[in-house]
Amino acid sequence: MFSKLFRAVISQNADEYPAEIFLKRRKERRKEYPRKFSFKGGLLSFLRNIVEKGGLQVHTGTEVMEVAKEDGKYRISTSDGKVLESQAVALATPAHITAGLIRSLEPAIADYFRTIPPFHSETLDIIVKKDALTLPKLAGIIPVSDEFLSIVTRDVAEHPELRSFTLHVEGQRTTEEEKRAILCRVLSLRPEDILESFSTTHSLPSLRLPHTPLLRKVEELRTQEDLFLLGNYYYGLSLEDCVHRSSDEAKRFGA
Ligand SMILES: Cc1cc2nc3c(=O)[nH]c(=O)nc-3n(C[C@H](O)[C@H](O)[C@H](O)COP(=O)(O)OP(=O)(O)OC[C@H]3O[C@@H](n4cnc5c(N)ncnc54)[C@H](O)[C@@H]3O)c2cc1C
Repeated sequence: MFSKLFRAVISQNADEYPAEIFLKRRKERRKEYPRKFSFKGGLLSFLRNIVEKGGLQVHTGTEVMEVAKEDGKYRISTSDGKVLESQAVALATPAHITAGLIRSLEPAIADYFRTIPPFHSETLDIIVKKDALTLPKLAGIIPVSDEFLSIVTRDVAEHPELRSFTLHVEGQRTTEEEKRAILCRVLSLRPEDILESFSTTHSLPSLRLPHTPLLRKVEELRTQEDLFLLGNYYYGLSLEDCVHRSSDEAKRFGA
């Protein structure tokens, strides 16, 4: 039962996922901030605000193809044929992608990151009228079977007329129609009760026991002082963990 419970939390198979990353104690908890909150316009509105207020230049829809170093300067080649130059580089790409990007700069770290495969999952969000459901308010549903990973609700941020549910499944196993059928069956809905739906895909690093302590290993292997590596495979999967990692690398950059 615990393996299903843990799997739902980290949206991937939890067997051999390092406990010190998953169940660790937070260094500090800022009690003045709420533990649960949501943003009007979603999390993206928060990022847009940072970009706007910070006067940052962002190239969306542009893939970084290669990061190389020549005469002490980084040269970043992008999918639109540009080559950007800089004194320092920070990569916040998934571990397996970072491995490819730094293969000529940090071959030993690249080899190590190749041992962290991505776990792909898919989600289907649906919006339904409250009166189409008999289910009481709930945070989520965790199955005891392998049919899906979890169903998460938006009931913590109550809407006067609508409710929303997100089905998480392992990637490339179910069609959109099958996902709808699971939601309808588990929530006792009719297909016509679904007012709106949205599907998306995700990938998370599949860390395993040999990947701890990852940080020490990266520090041992690192040869480039001006290359900064961030993401959800250092301190943990949560956004808070990602922010802590970014903050620590920013301190190293400023030192
Ligand atoms: C279903 C699900 C639910 C979650 N729920 C929560 C939650 O409730 N609370 C929480 O704290 N965390 C949650 N997480 C975890 C958290 O969302 C992720 O761990 C976190 O967003 C990862 O951030 P990241 O920046 O490291 O990686 P990502 O968000 O994966 O970002 C990597 C970025 O790199 C880009 N990229 C990849 N290759 C290239 C390239 N070659 N060139 C340029 N860009 C590239 C990708 O497009 C992507 O935008 C959840 C995760 C999932 C999958």
